[in-house]
Amino acid sequence: MNQLSGLDITLFLFGISIFTFFLLIAISSAREKEKRATFVSLIMAFVFCSLFIVVAIVDSSPQGIFSWVLISLSSLTILSFTFPIDKKLRSNPDTPVSRLDERDVIFSRMKLKPGDGRYEEYYEKNPGKKALDDQLRSAPPLLSPETPFYHAFYSEKGRNIFDEVDLLYDKVDGNISKVRQNLDVDEITKEITRYAKQLHAKQVSVVSLLDHHLYSTKGRGENYGREIQKKHTFSIVMTVEMDRLLNRTAPTAPTTYESAVKYLQSGEIAVEIAAYIRKLGYSARAHIDANYELLCPLIGRDAGLGEIGRMGILMSPELGPRFRISVVTTSLPLKSNKRKRDLSMLEFCQLCNKCSNNCPANAIPKAGMREINGVKRWQINQDACFSYWKKVGTDCGKCMAVCPYSHPGTSFHRWVKRLIKRNILFRHLAVYMDDLFYGKYPKSYPLEKLTQA
Ligand code: SF4
Ligand code: SF4
Repeated sequence: MNQLSGLDITLFLFGISIFTFFLLIAISSAREKEKRATFVSLIMAFVFCSLFIVVAIVDSSPQGIFSWVLISLSSLTILSFTFPIDKKLRSNPDTPVSRLDERDVIFSRMKLKPGDGRYEEYYEKNPGKKALDDQLRSAPPLLSPETPFYHAFYSEKGRNIFDEVDLLYDKVDGNISKVRQNLDVDEITKEITRYAKQLHAKQVSVVSLLDHHLYSTKGRGENYGREIQKKHTFSIVMTVEMDRLLNRTAPTAPTTYESAVKYLQSGEIAVEIAAYIRKLGYSARAHIDANYELLCPLIGRDAGLGEIGRMGILMSPELGPRFRISVVTTSLPLKSNKRKRDLSMLEFCQLCNKCSNNCPANAIPKAGMREINGVKRWQINQDACFSYWKKVGTDCGKCMAVCPYSHPGTSFHRWVKRLIKRNILFRHLAVYMDDLFYGKYPKSYPLEKLTQA
């Protein structure tokens, strides 16, 4: 038997390394219950490994020319996708010129009832919205038994939890202790962050509260139509992670159940933190699902938690859009976090378009950003999105489920996100690889499997 040359050994080592790499991805994907990604990784493991071994065995060219070509090409490919290469990304204008009126938000409009005065006043000023709003109001409520995706377990649990969220509204504000504690700014900022994390917030960040973070006018509740004044100086922004598997069932009921669970959890954390601050002698208000005086994505972005991507909501580098957010505004002096921008996320959105291609309502733009109210951004068609919600009876969430940033925080996905951030070529490759591993139009995770688990 011929002795193995140094070149042959190099090829075998390359083959075994690539095999191990894809095998590890396959194991990780199997744990995530991603069948297609597991299968694709296994195929790649065998194809690449065989290629190196076959070339090592059959290359009889002088000086092993084919072996050298394969080794050089592979090394060059690995280097060009992993070496830090980026063009200088420039941020766009991102401060809104004017504040948004909460009365124009679809969820506020759905609360209007003929004869309550607000209804007549609103549609007199906005006649173009009346026909669609009347039609949407007359459709059955989300998660109700008359809706197509109704599921006795998940829909009823979801309804139950949304009722619990409603009970928190009375607790968002309250009495302030007469004894005001004298606190060190650094220490109390750390303490609040620690406390929120003990209550299971995933990310916590503090930022100065600015005028453009607030709605101009209340659009819900007893203070409807009241101008919103800036009473506080700081915002504490908190997120809670949504379960990946439940979200992958989008647009069926379990994804809305998961939204409800995380709205409740994020709401409870905000209510607790606000109450604690009031006990320390400072005013504080929790802003929770359907009871906001401000725009959470905007504050989250300014607090450095992420960027507002193609689907018009906040995306963090760690969780993508797969989280719920709550905010506490307060007069307690705190230390603001420095905003660190990750423009690679917006660059990736320019290339990706997966949410837009998978949106059943065509509500997400496919084109580039446009300037809206002084901010260059993408904006979804809120009315089209909500019309789909009412049609199926859930909060859909398909865009969140298919977003490449929504994958769980395993070592593999963290590594992919790191390369997306540092290498412009890998950004292009990642768009194609996500389609190859998970499908261009990923299927919803089957409900039967969820109930069997
Ligand atoms: S799916 Fe793609 S385009 Fe849409 S938000 Fe996620 S990364 Fe951006
Ligand atoms: S929630 Fe559904 S309908 Fe709405 S934008 Fe996302 S994918 Fe489209």
